[in-house]
Amino acid sequence: MQRLTVKNIVTESKANGAFSEPELTRNGIVEDHNIILTTNKECSFRCVMCDLWKNTLDYRVKDGAIAKQVKNALNSLPKAKHLKLYNAGSFFDRQSIPKPDTFEIADYIQEYETLIVEVHPKLIGKPCFEFADYLQPQLEVAMGLETVDPKVLPRLNKNMTLDDFERATTKLLEHNIFVRAFILVRTPWQTEEEGIYWAKASIDFAQSIGVECCTVIPTRPNEGMEDFEPPLPTSVEEVVAYGQAKGNGRVFGDTWDAV
Ligand code: SF4
Repeated sequence: MQRLTVKNIVTESKANGAFSEPELTRNGIVEDHNIILTTNKECSFRCVMCDLWKNTLDYRVKDGAIAKQVKNALNSLPKAKHLKLYNAGSFFDRQSIPKPDTFEIADYIQEYETLIVEVHPKLIGKPCFEFADYLQPQLEVAMGLETVDPKVLPRLNKNMTLDDFERATTKLLEHNIFVRAFILVRTPWQTEEEGIYWAKASIDFAQSIGVECCTVIPTRPNEGMEDFEPPLPTSVEEVVAYGQAKGNGRVFGDTWDAV
């Protein structure tokens, strides 16, 4: 389906972003994390609330292009122990990042302690576990839980159930891969109060199945989301404070301003 809005101009010869920011590690220390946003094909899931497509290409890049983006971006970044590689989709989606590139990237980042990538729960499987075995840093996989609201999750076009998310989490933990969940505050079809309620419930669910880190994100407007109201900043703060007060793992608020 054709997009109605024009995408931003991005090029496969350059990562879409490379920057550094501090974050609390699971060891309880705040340390710098380098972040690279690769430029690749749009994610095929096309979730209703996801605007990451704005900085993507319409075609699959050739083998080697993403590894080159990452190599160049790494050279521009300061020294850090932790690296996030976000690709506006799934790291193990071969249309986004070809398989040889994933292993080439692994070779470039051997000195890092942690690698965090984003993946759709349905793409957790053998390719992920093979990559984790090859990888020198500890792998952490971030997955979009979005919301546990039963009236909203099936409508997000995410093609995922809570069972899918739990299954993926269990498999990752069995393979000693760390898990973080992205949780939305006030998805489409939620009032402000419902948005707060279901975001808190989503943290509860994620933590109950072993997710150690939750990132709480205010839903942003996106093409096709009619009558949508973004959450108030105070609602996001309330959800993050709730999660942190539980003392059951890391809970961050992230406005993704830099994306
Ligand atoms: S799976 Fe993730 S990246 Fe892909 S459209 Fe959905 S939210 Fe966006």
